[in-house]
Amino acid sequence: MADPLIRTEPAYDASDEYRPEPVPIPQPPAWQDGSFRIGIHTSIAGDIAGALDSAAKLGANALQIFSASPRMWPGGSARIAEADAARFRARRAELALGPLVIHDNYLINLASPERVMRTRSIQAFHDELVRAVSLGADFLVAHPGSGLGSDKDQAITEIAEGLRHAAKGMKLGSLRILIENTSGMGTAVGARFEEIKAILDQTGDLPMGVCLDTAHTFEAGYDITTEEGLEATLAAVDRSVGLSRVHVLHVNDSKTPLGSRVDRHENIGHGKIGLAAFGRILNHARLGPGLQGLPGRAFILETPIDEPGDDRRNVRALWDLVGVSVRQAPKAEDGFSMTKAKKKEKALTQRTQRTQRAQSKKQSLKGAKAKARKSKGRK
Ligand SMILES: [Zn+2]
Ligand SMILES: [Zn+2]
Repeated sequence: MADPLIRTEPAYDASDEYRPEPVPIPQPPAWQDGSFRIGIHTSIAGDIAGALDSAAKLGANALQIFSASPRMWPGGSARIAEADAARFRARRAELALGPLVIHDNYLINLASPERVMRTRSIQAFHDELVRAVSLGADFLVAHPGSGLGSDKDQAITEIAEGLRHAAKGMKLGSLRILIENTSGMGTAVGARFEEIKAILDQTGDLPMGVCLDTAHTFEAGYDITTEEGLEATLAAVDRSVGLSRVHVLHVNDSKTPLGSRVDRHENIGHGKIGLAAFGRILNHARLGPGLQGLPGRAFILETPIDEPGDDRRNVRALWDLVGVSVRQAPKAEDGFSMTKAKKKEKALTQRTQRTQRAQSKKQSLKGAKAKARKSKGRK
């Protein structure tokens, strides 16, 4: 505590007089400047901050990542150490990448009628939110889920309730949760835009939005390959969720035909949607980053890497479609591709899955033994 007898105030100077400054209006982030934001899903294998460098080397100015392994339940601590998160945020600022989109874990199913699965999913989605906030993400893309046996309305209610539960008491800052439309495989919710609207309607207290996947849209039966088809589809989106709530487009060609309800992504221009259709999609006034569109809306690739360099070529293909020359676009690194990172990621996932399987086998064996003992005791 300061000694009250020692006076340290400096002499009064009229020019120092406090003048209240107007409260600054928060500036929108640089990526909302109305420029095209083109990104790709990059790998976090090895080092999470490495995903940022990969995106930059591929010539992207936006990106999507998983914040943890997408095909297994997080073991131990699901959080990212603050030192790593700070390093990630700083590197992202240096590379001026935005928006940063995170895709949630594939195992999460908030619509599951099975209690254990549902609880696990809500916890895992809560962890997704925590990691997204700590990394400074702008959007968290979530697959709605599958109701399995239950009916659609019930599944939608469960999803909305699960989302609210997962976000309860959290300060989400500028993070927005985007519900992604699906191809409608099996009992998946979200192949119809009305279903997504119903989820948004029931989560009115959360910052929500929509991610539109071109492959899923086409596979769900919306023909976006023709000019009229695209107009009709966009009108359907606008009537239901509203185009202004679509913050991210997943730009993927489709290996499967219109209405297949089977989700298989293909490289841009090599699938059933085709290059001409992507040209119309990216340049549509209402989908672009201009006045009639939405500043900061991102086009994110989730395309396969069949040949080294496919990732770089897909990014380049999108810049070509919007008419940004090689000189104006972010500079890609010659010969860079994520092939190696993808292999590493696969090996790591397989190793962890093997360990998790072995662990759960051990546990169920233990459980079976305990059950046997119990039933013996009853006899
Ligand atoms: Zn997608
Ligand atoms: Zn997909």
